[in-house]
Amino acid sequence: MSEKIPTQDQSPDASVQLYSKRVKIQPRSIRGRFENLRNFAAYGFLSLFIGVAWIQWHGRQGLLFDLPHRRFYLFGLTIWPQDLILLAWFLIIAAFALFAVTVFAGRIWCGYTCPQTVWTKIFITIEHFIEGDRNARMRLDKSDTDWNKVWRRTLKHLGWLAVSLLTGIVFVGYFAPIRELIPALLHGNANVSEWVWIGIFTAATYLNAGWMREQICMYACPYGRFQSVMFDRDTLIISYDHARGEPRGARKHGVDPQTQGLGDCIDCLLCVQVCPTGIDIRDGLQLECIACAACIDACDNVMEQMGYAPGLVRYTSENALEHGQHTHILRPRLIGYSAAIIIMIGLMVYSIATRPPAGLDVIRDRNALYRETSDGDIENSYILNVMNKSQRPEHIELSFTHMPQGTKMEGRQDVVLQPGEMRSITETLDENPDELKDSEVHMDFHAHVEEDPDVDIDSPSRFFAPYSHRN
Ligand code: SF4
Ligand code: SF4
Repeated sequence: MSEKIPTQDQSPDASVQLYSKRVKIQPRSIRGRFENLRNFAAYGFLSLFIGVAWIQWHGRQGLLFDLPHRRFYLFGLTIWPQDLILLAWFLIIAAFALFAVTVFAGRIWCGYTCPQTVWTKIFITIEHFIEGDRNARMRLDKSDTDWNKVWRRTLKHLGWLAVSLLTGIVFVGYFAPIRELIPALLHGNANVSEWVWIGIFTAATYLNAGWMREQICMYACPYGRFQSVMFDRDTLIISYDHARGEPRGARKHGVDPQTQGLGDCIDCLLCVQVCPTGIDIRDGLQLECIACAACIDACDNVMEQMGYAPGLVRYTSENALEHGQHTHILRPRLIGYSAAIIIMIGLMVYSIATRPPAGLDVIRDRNALYRETSDGDIENSYILNVMNKSQRPEHIELSFTHMPQGTKMEGRQDVVLQPGEMRSITETLDENPDELKDSEVHMDFHAHVEEDPDVDIDSPSRFFAPYSHRN
């Protein structure tokens, strides 16, 4: 008789949900050295975000993405579309720096400086100020709607909206000069796109930091998903010391836990109550943990009150925790990332240092390949975009080569440009067709910087003549 092979039903279970319903988290406020560090990082970051937009540099905003004029000002450096390679270098270096920091210190970026963490912290501070600490907020959540609830909730949302609006204005102020943007907004003559983008960033800030909070870290942030592959056994993580803490349990103050068969964890749940993502660090390393170290502060305070040594929850590494080994700082992956960063910074600095102080882009007239003049000459028209990339006025002379000797250039042949200025100049080349050896001539335009005689910038183009003139 054949025996039936045991099977397991693998059909999708309707009860399994990919997105679990959100349980509102009301984190308890906490004091401690990491909270001080978080405050310093968060308010320092916020001050930089707001303050840098107001810094002037040589009469213009120091940091400005001038999209209408297609240039990016980074204090003394003007980046043009032609220099996008510099921006690419910068982004690659930033990505490698983030990888290196993650290998070394885990999610330290998430816990201290990520804008989602910083703005959520500011919103929670407003909430705490208006509605009280965790227990008061939880009571308010459960209470019936009365005047107390209405005014506190209204004030809280107005506070959130004010911070969101400020964020939206400052953010747009990095794309439209903030010293012109704010008066324009106050006088109602800002343009529609500025209003739209301010609206979008205000709404995004209000929703992300006010309503979504930890959901962004858990479901939307790609960095949170892939960073675990960068961890190694020496990466700094925040962890609960199981060996020391277990068995957990309540006990009277001053009682030696060993006499009761207990570890150092008194099971007070404070580490859970302060957690902005609502997890229990004692369950091990979890995807939801943003490494904010609030649980370390909470547990250290408890340990101090109990008269125990701090560090039941602490920064450590897998190696240190499991094998009592020292964390190895110099490890191949970290050395590799650091070397790559140093090389890339060197290459970027070299590119900036050797960047010519002017630029030249040539666009042929798209309306006509060539024109025949009344005296039988052939004319080609070009638009020469001449840029001054330096921080001083430059006198730039324009010329051309690889054309027969008698070719004439009809437009302006020299121009003085202010720092960061770009000018479009229409030029016409005029040639007797008998001098041309071909109906298409590959030639070059040149920009020569008078203040910097070694600099000669070439931009290739072509001169066309009717086919019949070809020899
Ligand atoms: S705060 Fe410390 S003692 Fe309290 S439950 Fe958490 S780990 Fe245990
Ligand atoms: S477990 Fe600790 S470090 Fe991780 S998010 Fe919660 S409080 Fe922050």
